[in-house]
Amino acid sequence: MSLFSAVELAPRDPILGLNEAFNADARTTKVNLGVGVYTNEEGKIPLLRAVREAEKARVEAGLPRGYLPIEGIAAYDAAVQKLLLGNDSPLIAAGRVVTAQALGGTGALKIGADFLKRVNPNAKVAISDPSWENHRALFESAGFEVVAYPYYDAQTNGVNFEGMLSALDGYAAGTVVVLHACCHNPTGVDISDAQWKQVVEVVKARQLVPFLDIAYQGFGDDIEADAAAVRLFAASELNVFVSSSFSKSFSLYGERIGALSIITDSKDEAARVLSQLKRVIRTNYSNPPTHGGSVVAAVLTSPELRATWEQELGEMRDRIRAMRKGLVERLKAAGVNRDFSFVNAQRGMFSYSGLSAAQVDRLREEYGIYAVSTGRICVAALNTRNIDVVANAVANVLK
Ligand code: PMP
Repeated sequence: MSLFSAVELAPRDPILGLNEAFNADARTTKVNLGVGVYTNEEGKIPLLRAVREAEKARVEAGLPRGYLPIEGIAAYDAAVQKLLLGNDSPLIAAGRVVTAQALGGTGALKIGADFLKRVNPNAKVAISDPSWENHRALFESAGFEVVAYPYYDAQTNGVNFEGMLSALDGYAAGTVVVLHACCHNPTGVDISDAQWKQVVEVVKARQLVPFLDIAYQGFGDDIEADAAAVRLFAASELNVFVSSSFSKSFSLYGERIGALSIITDSKDEAARVLSQLKRVIRTNYSNPPTHGGSVVAAVLTSPELRATWEQELGEMRDRIRAMRKGLVERLKAAGVNRDFSFVNAQRGMFSYSGLSAAQVDRLREEYGIYAVSTGRICVAALNTRNIDVVANAVANVLK
């Protein structure tokens, strides 16, 4: 008998399953609005100029590929801290911030979860309803019980902020609260700076543990403004976890470049926390890969490359905004009565469109337009070639 004879077939990942169906679809007019990837006007994942230049220099230098330190490249970790907390952060200056290069935002969340499990094994983890589909599974696989706090309000296409706040207010001390720092995935709906202040107050009053997930810095307003929530928490004198990712902002999805940063109370505490974090990393994958981290570090620390990157990131952001506007206008022009202007107020790559599962099914079956059954569409996959097709199809399924 095989060791695996009783192993059950695990369910397919819903979004990657959608991709497989999309790839198998023979229609030339098909559009994939399912997966969370930015594609440009040509429908391609861009290779940014800043990245290309940094990679060229790196290849030409012919560097050896020894092991990195367990926590990654020092220049990378330092650049991540500045991006998150600002160049003049007193916390950085005081040596109170620990940062480890991680395998994407996902890897950062996982090493954070594993470390938290050692620090406070009985804590619950609270995620938003809805949240990025991997949050629950990831924290559960680290051994936590995961609960959800109210977030999206389908009636208003906004946030049920009172519900969110009162749920946070009811959690036991030590509960880990996962918060999307900007460009909420999957809804595209963020809370305001004033609301963030209230969240910080409740988290502090209830002695909760904030775990900010920032996977889209630069896709909302700009790099600095999108870090506002992280900086509010940093200023609150709480111990804060931050998982960050360059997958989207550098268009380097497959290089797996992210970081976990933890704000501690003192330099001495930072050293102890880092030592434990290194144990977690060492027993998972030993140390991170060299290429992506060195490319990002090179771009962030070179004034010229950094300016190029910021410009390219701004172009991605502006293009997504233009697509939001274009979609809203086209739906109106196609005679759709429902007011879709909320799509313009959403931020980042995604939109909870308000389409039902049945309407999403019709889009796929009748028009070859693939979206997530929750109605989440990736606005960053729209371009001037496919937006008319999408708008007309959406208008038809709404009739
Ligand atoms: N957090 C959120 C909210 C995300 O949307 C994503 C990416 N889809 C991640 C984390 C993971 O990012 P990465 O691909 O860098 O692992």
